[in-house]
Amino acid sequence: MAEPALNATDAPRVAAVIVAAGRGIRAGGGLPKQYRTIGDRMVLSRTVVAFARHPRIDDVRVVIHPDDRVLYEAAVAGFDLPEPVPGGATRQESVRAGLEALAAGTAPEAVLIHDAARCFVPAAVIDRVIDAVDATHGAIPALPVSDTLKRADGERVRGTVARAGLYRAQTPQGFPFAPILAAHRAAAARAGLTDDAAVAEAAGLAVRLVAGAEENLKLTTEADFARLTRRMDAPRLEPRTGFGFDVHRFAPGDHLWLCGVRIAHPATLKGHSDADVALHALTDALLGAIADEDIGAHFPPSDPEWRGAPSHRFLTHAARRVREKGGEIAHCDITILCEAPRIGPHRAAMRARVAGILGIPNTRVSLKATTTEGLGFTGRGEGIAAQAVATVLLPSDAP
Ligand code: MG
Repeated sequence: MAEPALNATDAPRVAAVIVAAGRGIRAGGGLPKQYRTIGDRMVLSRTVVAFARHPRIDDVRVVIHPDDRVLYEAAVAGFDLPEPVPGGATRQESVRAGLEALAAGTAPEAVLIHDAARCFVPAAVIDRVIDAVDATHGAIPALPVSDTLKRADGERVRGTVARAGLYRAQTPQGFPFAPILAAHRAAAARAGLTDDAAVAEAAGLAVRLVAGAEENLKLTTEADFARLTRRMDAPRLEPRTGFGFDVHRFAPGDHLWLCGVRIAHPATLKGHSDADVALHALTDALLGAIADEDIGAHFPPSDPEWRGAPSHRFLTHAARRVREKGGEIAHCDITILCEAPRIGPHRAAMRARVAGILGIPNTRVSLKATTTEGLGFTGRGEGIAAQAVATVLLPSDAP
């Protein structure tokens, strides 16, 4: 059955009230936690970004403690926000101040009320809350309780609380604007309502649950800050791409090597090593992706050690260089250019062989072949050329 829409014609106007008036210095640093820095940004700055950049949020009001004006200006520098709203003595009073500020202007149809300390709120959680709010229902993100709950008296356990049906409520909590404003006004004299859903429940406004997210945690303790700072400071993996190209000429013989697979053929490929042109191109692509010179620099043709060497040794070496830099091989794509031999019958074996040498799944190895329509040295059957592209994920601070 269709629920009454907030606005039958357009997307509803949705405002966000970010509650940042708390004095919470339990998290350390001597500052209210919403003004502490995680990574390169203040907590409040991250929270404001999550809402100000969300395409379905039309208005963002931040409720602050009047003493924090200078910190606030630093946190929202670069954002074109309305004047911050001075908060009250309790969270509930601060929320009501934010709602009254919205009511004094063009009141929205829906409002999301959010704790500044939940600065990693995913856009998808904001979307789920907005989707679930209508004219007669609020919505809150929540996660089921997974730990066993105990009731205790000091250190003495008194019993186990059944956790079925219990949820941990998060924010943003979304409501149709007029009913939640009325509920907050009615609750002004009542203390002890710990969130806005409790205010709504007290006023008889129905509230729905939508899925919250573990990363939408409320920063509370010094340990929370330490853990998340470590995570933010960890080097990120970034994609690097390398390209390789190689050519070997035909010489009298009865077999050749391509992608580490021996193929019977009325000619061989000539070279210092086994002349596996495809593995040479791929080795250069991997070395290129990590900016580590080329196959000739690692395996000089003047060095007798590599005479007749199987080329999988070169590729194994390049893959090891990637891993020594903390990287992983995401994908490679090889193209062999020749009139003969036909590659199709050997493709599966070649992919499996390359994947085995690199230590990655077959699905991350692509192998293609083409003729050159009789043109050029490959068209005349004088030799085989190969190209390869490799994509590597490398830590941003890799040497
Ligand atoms: Mg070569």
